[in-house]
Amino acid sequence: MAKQIFDPKQVILQKINKNGGWVNCHAHIDRAFTIDKKLYQLANALRHEKWILNSNLRKSSTVAQVYDRMAKALETMIAQKVHAVGTFIDVDPHMKDKAIKAAQRVREKYKSQIKIKFINHASYGILTKETRDWFEVGAEFADIIGGMVKANLGKENEYLDIIMQTARAKNKMAHVHVDEVNSPDEVETEMLAKKTIEYGLQGKVVGIHGISINTHPKKYRQTLYKLMRKANLMMIACPISWLNSRRSEILTPTHNPTTPVDELVPAGITVGIGTDNVADLFMPYNDGNLWNDLRVMMEMNRLYDIDTLVKISTINGKKILGID
Ligand SMILES: [Zn+2]
Repeated sequence: MAKQIFDPKQVILQKINKNGGWVNCHAHIDRAFTIDKKLYQLANALRHEKWILNSNLRKSSTVAQVYDRMAKALETMIAQKVHAVGTFIDVDPHMKDKAIKAAQRVREKYKSQIKIKFINHASYGILTKETRDWFEVGAEFADIIGGMVKANLGKENEYLDIIMQTARAKNKMAHVHVDEVNSPDEVETEMLAKKTIEYGLQGKVVGIHGISINTHPKKYRQTLYKLMRKANLMMIACPISWLNSRRSEILTPTHNPTTPVDELVPAGITVGIGTDNVADLFMPYNDGNLWNDLRVMMEMNRLYDIDTLVKISTINGKKILGID
């Protein structure tokens, strides 16, 4: 009789289903499937340039178009048995409240099939009158306060104060993009952990990405993990999103461009997984398949413990999205 083949993928998928299905902790579904011929020409632009390159899209999109993109992204997830998703939506002087209107409609339409947590995104920062006003509109609507430290480069302190004040005043969690560009110049996870403690928001703040943590020496990383635990700061990894990290001549500890899940998990930090950008200017080829992200995560971190991978894909995600 033929020996039965051990198929760990099937074991993981079965366990994920048993835990209620996947939780996709990070996405931008309002701009999913927006890649076109013209935008594709810009696919190799620098990441910080892309944050602004999307501005035409924000200005020209109609509520109906944003709704269609969101619906397509949600259906892609529902087909994979994704139980809950946390997604940023643009709310800024260009997008105005168009994504909010679309979000209200998709939430109603898909409420029996998938739990959605909306997170406001202000790509142009929050430190001018106009950007701040739209940030307030977004924060009022959102389930979770969204941030991206790079949005106000050089004014990180002031920026994070507003994010933390808003989260505390509205009694909402905060999800903040940090340490994204794989460079030792970045210490944003550390800043976020310190602000979390300063504002007494332990257990309510989540960092997204944290790629640059790898570029610091081991001693720094170990100290950072202790600080993260003290802040009860959680972390979302979007493994495919960082495969295109740029070559640099800066010497750092040898590492893969990924959230250091191999160190965060043993350090006792809650890690979740997200697809991030799907079929847009940032990631034209990302089809939003969570298995692919999990696969990349396990290889880049040599993380093969099945129960850990299942936890990252399910119950950790619920904690990160504040779902009971
Ligand atoms: Zn993002």
